[in-house]
Amino acid sequence: MKFDNKKLEKLMMIEPEIMTIYEEEILLKELTKSQLYLPIEIVSDSFDFENPHISETITLDEPLKFKPIKIYDDNNSVILPLFTSSEKFKESGIQSSTIVIYTEDLANMLKDADEEYNEIIINPSNKYSMSIYLNSFLDLFIEDINDNLLDLIEVFDEKMILIKENQDYIKRIPTPEMKRIIPKIYNLLDKISPVNFDCGKLCGEVCCVYDIENKDSDELVLYLLPGEELMYGEDNSFELYHLDSKEIKYPHSWKDNIYLVKCINPPKCNRSIRPIQCRTFPLIPHLSKNGEFHLIFDESEFPYECPLIHDNIDLNSEFIEITYFVWTVLICNPLVYDLVDMDSRIRDNRKIEYEIVI
Ligand code: SF4
Ligand code: SF4
Repeated sequence: MKFDNKKLEKLMMIEPEIMTIYEEEILLKELTKSQLYLPIEIVSDSFDFENPHISETITLDEPLKFKPIKIYDDNNSVILPLFTSSEKFKESGIQSSTIVIYTEDLANMLKDADEEYNEIIINPSNKYSMSIYLNSFLDLFIEDINDNLLDLIEVFDEKMILIKENQDYIKRIPTPEMKRIIPKIYNLLDKISPVNFDCGKLCGEVCCVYDIENKDSDELVLYLLPGEELMYGEDNSFELYHLDSKEIKYPHSWKDNIYLVKCINPPKCNRSIRPIQCRTFPLIPHLSKNGEFHLIFDESEFPYECPLIHDNIDLNSEFIEITYFVWTVLICNPLVYDLVDMDSRIRDNRKIEYEIVI
C-alpha cells in the first residue's frame, strides 16, 4: 500500500508555541486527508482471541470485527492512538494488529461508535506527537465553512513563497497570485457575519450610507486590495476606477494603479462582490510595533458610531476567528502588509486609542 505522511510528520515537528495560524490550519487540513495506522483488537462472539487453545484451528462463521485499542493517560482519559507509519507504531511498543484507515472514515466510524474516547493522539510516546480532542477531530470533517477555509488554505499553500528576511523565513504571497486568493477569501467571508441578526436595523446601516448622507460628495468610494479589482465586471452596484499611486498617500511599494469602487446605491449592493473592507467591518487590522498582528476596534477610523462597538455587543467568535485568519493571509502580500503597517504606525504616532479584539 503506497501512502506517505511525510508532510503531516514535518508539520507535527513544529513546536506548538511557534506554530503560526496557517501552519496549524495546514496541519489540520493534512490530517483530514491522511491515512493512518490504527491499532486494533479483533473481536469475535464465538472465539476468544486473547486466550486461544494451542493448535486450535480457527473457523469463523461470522464477519471479522475489530475495535480500536484504547490507551489511558495519567488522568484516566481514554485515548485513541494513531500512527503516521509502521515504524512509529513499532516504536510505541503497543502489541496489536493495525489497519490503515483514512481519517475521514475513522471520523465517520467514531461518530456512531458506542465506545467513548476523550482524545486522539497521533504518534503517542514519540517526541513529535499530536493530540486533538475527539469533538475537535470530528468537527474537522464538517462541511461548509471548513470546506471554504480549506479551499483558501490550499490556494494559499500553493501560492505562497518563503523569503528570507534577516534570519527568518517569511511567508509572502506575490501580488500577481492575489487574484487566486481573493475569490477564495470572498467565498469564505460570505459564510460569516459579525452577529446573528441584522445589525443595520440598529443604526440605519450607517456604515454604508454615512458618506453619501453627510459629506459634500454624494459618492461612496471604497479602496480595494490587490486582486480585488478583478472581481468587478459589469455590475450595476459598482463602478470600478483607479488612481495613480502618486496621487494619494499610500506606501511607496504601491507603484502601480490603486483601484477603487464606487458603491452606486448604498445600502443596497451586490453583496457577493462587496469589498473586503465591508466584509470584515467593524474589525480593523493592526500591526503592533513588535510585529504582532491584531484585529482591533478603532472608532476614530470612522466618523459615526457603530452600535456593535459602542454598545459592546459580542461579535460571533467564528466571525472574529475567520476574519483574523483571512487578514493573516492578506498581510502575506507585501503591499497589504505595508498598507496595514502604515495605518498602524499612524495610529501609534497619533496615540489613538483602540481596543484589541484578537
Ligand atoms: S456594522 Fe455597525 S455601523 Fe454597520 S450596520 Fe452594523 S451596527 Fe451599523
Ligand atoms: S458595498 Fe455594500 S456593504 Fe459596502 S458600503 Fe456599499 S452597500 Fe454597504
